[in-house]
Amino acid sequence: MNLKDLPVEEARARMLAAVTPGALETVALDRHAEGRVLAEPIRAVRDQPPFDASAMDGYALQPGDVAASFAVVGESAAGRPFSQGVGAGEAVRIFTGAEVPPGCAVVIQERATREGERVRFEGPPPLERTNVRPRAGDFAAGDVLLPAGVRLDAWRLALAASAGRAEAQVYPQPRVAIISTGEEIVRAGTVDIQPAQIFDSNGPSLATLTASWGGRPIRLEPARDDEDAILAAIQGVEAELIVTVGGASVGDYDLVKPALKRLGLELLVETIRLRPGKPTWFGRLADGRFVLGLPGNPASGLVAAELFLRPLLAVWQGGDPTLRMEHARLTRPMRESGPREHWMRAKLESAADGSVQVTPFSDQDSSLVSVFAAADALLRRPTHAPAAEAGDVVEVIRLGRL
Ligand code: AMP
Ligand code: MG
Repeated sequence: MNLKDLPVEEARARMLAAVTPGALETVALDRHAEGRVLAEPIRAVRDQPPFDASAMDGYALQPGDVAASFAVVGESAAGRPFSQGVGAGEAVRIFTGAEVPPGCAVVIQERATREGERVRFEGPPPLERTNVRPRAGDFAAGDVLLPAGVRLDAWRLALAASAGRAEAQVYPQPRVAIISTGEEIVRAGTVDIQPAQIFDSNGPSLATLTASWGGRPIRLEPARDDEDAILAAIQGVEAELIVTVGGASVGDYDLVKPALKRLGLELLVETIRLRPGKPTWFGRLADGRFVLGLPGNPASGLVAAELFLRPLLAVWQGGDPTLRMEHARLTRPMRESGPREHWMRAKLESAADGSVQVTPFSDQDSSLVSVFAAADALLRRPTHAPAAEAGDVVEVIRLGRL
């Protein structure tokens, strides 16, 4: 089977088909659940609200009761309901969130004039059950509140909590070991850096992306361009996925694949029709660990991470791996594109009419970290796309920036 020069879609499909979510975990929803993907639906076990509830502070009375004044026969407060019925000429003092006596409407207190044990109202009497939040108006017992497969966030956790759930089954978070390779690569913070060395920018960046996409990053020390050093660095590392940075191509010092062949590497993707990021590869070691090989050029590695690492982590977590494409209008023309799918670093802005505009940076060199740091989107140019004009609609992926 040909594993080289695969279209981006096909490369992604092959990677995603190879991985499956691991064993499920039960987590406490108020502590460890943010960002986790539900493996079971959350169902309501009771109605919410569990009773007809008042939406206002005021008085409960029977709709259509035209009495000139009403006898105040009791009080219904949140958590302390009024337990009897309300008859003609009677009213019950009521507060927001309190149970509304059977059949009653609520008249807001701004319309009420209290005279001892009696109350009068300005304006016409209510004809229907005004200011009442009906039982089960939010959800009913048995409803599926959150289906399996959704990622939990603060708002969805509020729904699970309002259904009384304290725990839920979620998919596991894959452990992702990240190793930068290259004779010249040293960790940020190294004080005696030599003129021929450069700081590892992809390692910390990929670890951060991994965590933000729900994985558990494990950062390994950079390894030299030496097969034994690369092997030693990943030997025994417990991870579902190893992400290697650099040494992915076919140069004399691109030794990651040759080294991993000694661990029984089976390649599933060898090169991709992608710019930047052509040397990106994917495979499985004999021990079952997967490896995503990223090129060392920072823009190549980070584009490939958006296109492949993010979807892979989504599948591992039982989530949705589809790329979140949006549309935007070009602010300037672009030349026709070549045989590789081109993902350009770009800037998004809101136009005066509210539409989203996109401007690709003029320098798309894959080594530029500064351009990536200024970008907030990736602009997709399909293979052999014709020249584009300002105003044309193109596809973009928004980078998850704050
Ligand atoms: P390579 O993919 O190993 O051929 O590296 C391509 C280019 O990316 C070279 O200029 C490397 O110095 C640079 N590079 C490789 N790894 C990293 C890294 N982790 N951080 C920053 N630059 C890197
Ligand atoms: Mg290298």
